Amino acid sequence: MQPNTYLQQMKDGYLFTEIVHRTKAFQTEHPEAKILRLGVGDITRPLPAPVVEAMHRAVEEMGHPDTFRGYGLENGYAWLRQAILDNDYTPRGIQLSIDEVFISDGAGSDLGNLSELFDQHNQVAIIDPAYPAYEDTSMMAGRSIEYLPCTAENHFVPDLPKTSADIIYLCYPNNPIGTVLTRDQLTEWVRYAQAHKSIIIFDSAYEAFIQSPDIPHSIYEIEGAQEVAIEVRSYSKTAGFTGVRCGYTIVPKATGLHAMWLRRQCTKYNGTSYISQRGALASYTQEGKAAIRANIAYYQETAQVLMKGLSALGYEVYGGVHAPYIWCRVPKGYTSWSFFTYLLSTYQVVCTPGAGFGAAGEGYVRFSAFSKREDCIEAIQRIQKL
Ligand SMILES: *Cc1c(COP(=O)(O)O)cnc(C)c1O
Repeated sequence: MQPNTYLQQMKDGYLFTEIVHRTKAFQTEHPEAKILRLGVGDITRPLPAPVVEAMHRAVEEMGHPDTFRGYGLENGYAWLRQAILDNDYTPRGIQLSIDEVFISDGAGSDLGNLSELFDQHNQVAIIDPAYPAYEDTSMMAGRSIEYLPCTAENHFVPDLPKTSADIIYLCYPNNPIGTVLTRDQLTEWVRYAQAHKSIIIFDSAYEAFIQSPDIPHSIYEIEGAQEVAIEVRSYSKTAGFTGVRCGYTIVPKATGLHAMWLRRQCTKYNGTSYISQRGALASYTQEGKAAIRANIAYYQETAQVLMKGLSALGYEVYGGVHAPYIWCRVPKGYTSWSFFTYLLSTYQVVCTPGAGFGAAGEGYVRFSAFSKREDCIEAIQRIQKL
């Protein structure tokens, strides 16, 4: 047996494991400390009631001989795929066919699995800092990577690649920075991909947080994008499905990759749970939409508490409007990990060190609006003015 040497060479230690480890160590040394966790990247509000009710009904159906369901289609039930087109695409003027929609068990799996569509010898471009899946899966496949730094100096707008990139990972609204691309900026990427015959993997897990009509929710709002882009979405951060598992991926036929992805899924994926898909469908009912809007509004207000609070304390903060994340520059003399330690030991506040998301994240930390509102308020009271 020869192991996958690329996988074998990967550094171990996942960012969030390290944060949990350091936080636990601090708590053990200071059992009386009330630690405020503002680093969480997970949803904290429960599932909307209409989603829960739909899932209850689905479980009941599974217990009766005439309504029981076994394997569904690999790419999902047609009623969910149609609801996706009717709600997420048609109203934005995007025409896709129902078989271009693939229901998944979440964006995380597909972001990794899509890598199988491509030969090893493709040049990859990744925005830096980034959600770890893009870099990790490219490294596991042994591909060469160009990092596109996003820092305050370039207003967090990545430059086009210097290499001829074959595969480009973009994530907007962005995790961890919380920034967005305008329609014109996204158009430049689509034109680049057309000119270089590259494919863009567009992660729009946070599209529901967009608050301005000028910001595209889908890359397919850009003319020509169906030839060059795969879009990955999730019910996790929008409808609270992080523990339920459901998302979807759009692979347009015009990319030339549709038949291959279907072929791959038929062999390697036996479909998303019927119960999860029923829950996802309920997120499109009137009551479902209203409940989701209320949850997102809550996170958006929490983001404002953090933004305004930190900025009044003298910190330089970015993002936080069209995304639940606040990207904060660390004070002079600190690294992102030393500032993490400082906040934990001085104020018992936990953030996420930016360096954990890539080299260009050094010098920043991330605060998450998925944190408890009262913890955010208390953290702002504890942290002293710069
Ligand atoms: C949370 C997250 C995902 C993954 O979501 P799933 O729960 O796997 O659907 C994908 N991309 C980004 C940027 C995320 O923050």
